[in-house]
Order: sequence, then structure tokens, then C-alpha cells
Amino acid sequence: MSERKILMIPGPIESKANVLRALGAPTLSHTSPDFIKTFGNCLEMMKKVWGAPSGQPFIMAGSGTLAMEMAAANLIEPGDRALVVSSGYFGERYAALLERFGARVSVLRAEPGHTVSLPDVEQALGEHRFKLMTITHVDTSTAVRTDPLPLARLAREYGVLSILDGVCSVGGEVLYQEEWGIDVVLTASQKAIGVPPGLALMVASEEAIRTWKNRKTPPGSYYADWTNWLPVMEAYAKGKPAYFGTPAVNLIMALEQGLGDILNEGLEARFERHRQTGQAFRAAMAAMGLEMIPASPDEAADTLSAAFFPEKVEGSSFMQAMAKSPVVVAGGLLPKLRSAYFRVGHMGGVSESELQTTVEAIASSLAECGQAADGKNAWDAARAVLKP
Ligand code: PMP
Repeated sequence: MSERKILMIPGPIESKANVLRALGAPTLSHTSPDFIKTFGNCLEMMKKVWGAPSGQPFIMAGSGTLAMEMAAANLIEPGDRALVVSSGYFGERYAALLERFGARVSVLRAEPGHTVSLPDVEQALGEHRFKLMTITHVDTSTAVRTDPLPLARLAREYGVLSILDGVCSVGGEVLYQEEWGIDVVLTASQKAIGVPPGLALMVASEEAIRTWKNRKTPPGSYYADWTNWLPVMEAYAKGKPAYFGTPAVNLIMALEQGLGDILNEGLEARFERHRQTGQAFRAAMAAMGLEMIPASPDEAADTLSAAFFPEKVEGSSFMQAMAKSPVVVAGGLLPKLRSAYFRVGHMGGVSESELQTTVEAIASSLAECGQAADGKNAWDAARAVLKP
């Protein structure tokens, strides 16, 4: 294997040793008592991590996009109206996906680096009778965080279901699904949950399940249909096996470790650690003269950061310089600005030394591209936030 580098992209992220050990353990039968216990524990822990004690968790083999699709497939019937509150690339993905299921989709688009304003959402909700509204908690293309709480409140007021794409937030950003009144919160294993890629995860509210039960037509996806999966989740929650499609046994064993680690750290402590890490990383970027994509610090995510290349730095040269460093970061994703910025993930169990190595690698890559940047000074700025 070639030299191992520190993975600082916004997913997949590094997984801890206990998670990787569980992944590498001998595969169990999906009907064995040990696996039934593991599956049941995961479902129970998800409700805690999501802040949704009466929610219905689903664990499926697939990526985050399958979780997005599962929500759309089960809640949309052809002709239903859906409102997409988009702060970037993944909002656009949700709009395209909803259309596949026959939704009539309206999209509210924020300018890059911004969120959609509350009055704009309220106005849109007043214009049509929407069945559901999607919100991207953290759009990984822009590192912009949208506050879901006021939007979920508005959705309730207008009798509209709310779906939160929490792929880049669950387990890192503050979130209390039930208290905030969000109907579906979905994510994937490979981000702030800290488990290798391969699991689509979601928790649905009682109202979302009721809406699905009252459908007049079957969902347009056979694989994602809750008719097939709900009995499986209910059985494992009661300590019994059930089968529709073979569960991703080893990934679910790893998920038990990942969710356990989150709960052992404590949700509040974990949110606070992410808040500090995000703030510290942005302080280091600012000290190197970098400008962030999020227009306001209040709307900057804590799970990842996105920064513009300085004027005199050629993006591709910077990425080439970074490729020689011990750290892997990601390029831009938003089509309009793709070559103008880069992204760094700092979610999950990222350590102080990994952060420091990343800051130093960015400083020397900038210097190699002709932009004076002092890594030590930048790390001091980060440390001042981490250890005031
Ligand atoms: N939504 C957001 C906010 C994401 O960051 C991602 C993945 N980067 C997705 C959806 C899609 O997830 P996946 O790549 O696991 O399908």
C-alpha cells in the first residue's frame, strides 16, 4: 500500500480503530442472536443521536443519496408539490431526485455562500399547497449551514412535511429532530457518524409514516419502499430477525461502535467540540489570508470549511502542492465556482494534531504557490480558540 495520508476531505472521513475492527470481524449471519442485538442497539442509538425518541429509524445498505431517495420515494406521489430550499449542489440533487418521483418541484436558490431567507420560504409556502419541503443542513459544496429550526416551524405551520438532508451534519452539528419538529432526518455512515461508506441512515417521524401509510399509489421504487423495510426495522427492534434484502452486516457492526462512541462522548460535548474545531480552523484560514465561502460566520458549518484561493494562487497548482503533503483535502464542487476554492473536512473524531498538520500543509502549499503564509502563526490562531 502507498504511504497513508490523513483524510481531511468532507467525507468519507477517518474511522477510529474500534470501528475498523468491528468492520473487519468475521461476518455474522443476519439472523444470529449477536447480530440481532447489534442491529437493535443501532436502531435504539440512532433515536438518541438524532434526538428523536419516537422516530422510526431505517438502516439500509447504500450511500446518502439512497437515503434521500428513500424519503422522496415513500412520501411523494406523482403530482405532489415539493419545495427545495437549496444552498448548493445537494439542494439541486434533491430537486432532480424529487422530479424523478413525479413531484412538481419549486426550488428556492441561495447565492453561493448564503442561505435562503426565511421570508422567501414563507412566501413560497403561501403560493402553493406543498406536500413536503427539503432543507440541506450543511451543503457540503459551500460549507454553508442552514438553521433548520425556523424552517421546520414554518413547514409545520403550513402543514408541510420537512425533510432534512443531514448527510454532512448528523453527529457533528447541533440537531434535535423531534424537538425541532423535523419529519425526516437522513444521513450516511461516512461523515460525522465516523463509519466507512456504505450505509444510508434515516429517522422518520410518526407523521411521515402516517403520510406514507395513506398513500393512494405504491412508491415508485421497489428497493426503497418502506413496505419492505419497516417490518424489518420493527422486527430487529423487538429482538427478532426479519429479511427483505441482506443487511450490510459488517457495516452495521461498525455502526454500533460509531454510534456508541458518539453517545459515550455525549451529544452536547460532541456538538461543542465540533463548534470549537470549526471556529479554530476558520481562525487558522483567516490568519493565512484566506476568505471563506460562507458569507457569515453564523452560517459557516462546523463539520467542514470551504475557502477561496487567494487571487495570486492558481487552484490547480495549490492542489498539486497539497497532493505532495501528508494531508488529503478536496477541491471545489459547486459548478459555478468549482476551480475557485477548496474544502477541508473536520468532523468526527479529528484530532488536534491532524488539524495542525492540515493547517501547516495548507500554509506550505500556499507558500509554494507564491502566497506568503505562516503555518505557525495560523496554528497559533487555531489554538487560541481551542485552548483560550
Ligand atoms: N447530501 C449532502 C449534504 C452530502 O454532503 C452528500 C455527500 N457528499 C450527499 C447528500 C450524498 O451522499 P452520498 O455521496 O453518500 O450519496
